[in-house]
Amino acid sequence: MTKRRPALPPLEALTAPELTWEEAAPHSTQFGDVYFSREDGRAETEHVFLNANRLPERFAAWTHARPFVIGETGFGTGLNVLSAWACFEAHAPHTARLHLLSTEKYPLGRAELARALAAWPSLDAYARALCERWPEPVAGIQRLHLGERVTLDLHFGDTVERLCLLDGRVDAWFLDGFAPSKNAAMWSPELFEAMAARSRPGATFATFTCAGIVKRGLKAAGFTIAKVPGFGRKREMLVGEIASPPSDARRARTPWFTPPTPAKAEHVAVIGAGLAGASVAAALARRGVAVTVLDRQAPGAGASGNRQGALYAKLAAETNDQSRVYLAGLLYSARWLDGLEQGETLWSRCGVLQLATSEREAARQQRFLARHPLGDGVVRAMQGALAPLTGVPGKALHALYYPQAGWVCPKALCEALLAHPRIRFMKATATRLEASSDGWRVHLDDGETLTADQVVIANAHAAAQFAQSEALPFQKVRGQVSELALPEGVDAPTTVVCAGGYVAPPLDGVVSFGASFVPNDDTDALRDEEHQRNIDELRAALPEWVAALEAADGPLSAERLEGRAAVRAASPDKTPYAGPVPVAAQWTSDYAALAKDASYRFSTPGAHHPGLWISAAHGSRGLASAPLCAEVIASKLLDEPLPLEWTLADHLHPGRRLISALVRAGD
Ligand code: SAM
Repeated sequence: MTKRRPALPPLEALTAPELTWEEAAPHSTQFGDVYFSREDGRAETEHVFLNANRLPERFAAWTHARPFVIGETGFGTGLNVLSAWACFEAHAPHTARLHLLSTEKYPLGRAELARALAAWPSLDAYARALCERWPEPVAGIQRLHLGERVTLDLHFGDTVERLCLLDGRVDAWFLDGFAPSKNAAMWSPELFEAMAARSRPGATFATFTCAGIVKRGLKAAGFTIAKVPGFGRKREMLVGEIASPPSDARRARTPWFTPPTPAKAEHVAVIGAGLAGASVAAALARRGVAVTVLDRQAPGAGASGNRQGALYAKLAAETNDQSRVYLAGLLYSARWLDGLEQGETLWSRCGVLQLATSEREAARQQRFLARHPLGDGVVRAMQGALAPLTGVPGKALHALYYPQAGWVCPKALCEALLAHPRIRFMKATATRLEASSDGWRVHLDDGETLTADQVVIANAHAAAQFAQSEALPFQKVRGQVSELALPEGVDAPTTVVCAGGYVAPPLDGVVSFGASFVPNDDTDALRDEEHQRNIDELRAALPEWVAALEAADGPLSAERLEGRAAVRAASPDKTPYAGPVPVAAQWTSDYAALAKDASYRFSTPGAHHPGLWISAAHGSRGLASAPLCAEVIASKLLDEPLPLEWTLADHLHPGRRLISALVRAGD
């Protein structure tokens, strides 16, 4: 299948801006322009962006379940965004939510941000919330939960490129960025077209400039424009709106991925109380949705039930969609865990060291770093003595160190996520799903039924039991973790160390390591031979440390170990399923023509079971994928901008396997 789609920009760290400071006010030497007015930047923001978009009155009247969405070109210091947040808090009803998205090609560092924002004492609390969560400057979308009701998506990269990759629509635009005379490249016809294509009907814009190129561009893209008085010495500025934005033409070549029309979502049933289900439930509850979570066992009893798990991502040497999703997921999970109320008891950002145990792997790691200059804050190379970084003896041929990664208590995390006032947990087994005129009936094994507006299937390979999701291929993989009480006097690892398996720093004096990987095995009894395999891998990765353990406490053997085995579900391509559930029979018949002709074009958009979603097949990497997938599903379900580029959301779409199977059949 030839699927033409925009190439995603390189996965790399962005360039820092070149700044000089006039007291608190940053000035860009690169663009020769100021970030905000030296007269009174805050008053200018209120005049130009907030009031000209009529935000106080629109916020006050906002009663929709979906958030009000602001889109900005050029985040800069965040003054506009934080002022909009403060305005929202002052005017919006308590049920309203705000979604801010802003592009930025040259992100400020955290210290510069704090320095610039210190000029506005009345925004102090907002600025602190932003600076605490400020991400590494990696190209892509970085989602920050600024508060229970306010989300900020930083679209790091070039404005036009980022808006073309955005899956979401905007209610009000802040058309910022340096003046057109200083930054002509950004103010292009493509910018105005992309704004129009990502606008809601009736979306407004406001901008400080009155330049002819801006007027003409916005008009040509379908916006009305009007001149109104500018701020301070500026005589005029522009405002306007777009009544009928163009439809999304991006699905022309992949109509099967066309998302379902948003529907009622007051009560959602989530089937499965592992990490996938608990994170979807929490993402929905945060958005004001009442959630019932069903599981035949207690929360986190399945594959998410280990005491400790590693939060990390193994990324391919050559960039691919899967690596992009996992890197975005890793960075999102770390920020999200930090933001949880009991965050510090649920996880440790201790860093993860990926050891290369062969020349070949060392070369692969070097290739990866050369292709992905992500910055030391995300991943860096390490060689030589391990002890200074990991706390244990040994030597690395080569290693990659991920400072944002670490370990998590998955079971405790599931329990904490479900302890939300809008989430109800029910110990029950769902046996059948039935669509009804007003949503779904979930049939339970005790003969009862539960009704819900929408349903999210998150019960790993047991998803195959439902008629609606049985066509999705799953592989069952057994994994056994070994646990060892750390003998006294032996140094413990202070970071997670991965090679074939992983070993984590001790929790309550017990070190977890493993896990085994046994495909097509769905048993969960402990096995000595898998303990032995875990010992062998640990010895191969950290021979000096294992020698120290044995010197202190005798030979390491399977009989001395405790542990836990569980079955994880994976997809054939090892990317999770996250999105709407396709009507497989209809896809198969409607789209069979694709197998004969890869360029076949058809008019029917994607057929999905209305209001049925799935988050599954997270394999052994759910800590890096499930929270971001939960955001993808909750955002789609509530008609909000996505935290991933639209092409990556397609990569997660459960129907991708059906399409690729059809295409393969035709080869
Ligand atoms: N809105 C900002 C605030 O509240 O502080 C001020 C924005 S400042 C005047 C302009 C910003 O646009 C700078 O941060 C600059 O790096 C960014 N920028 C310039 N060209 C860009 C482009 N092509 N894509 C993305 N960001 C760009």
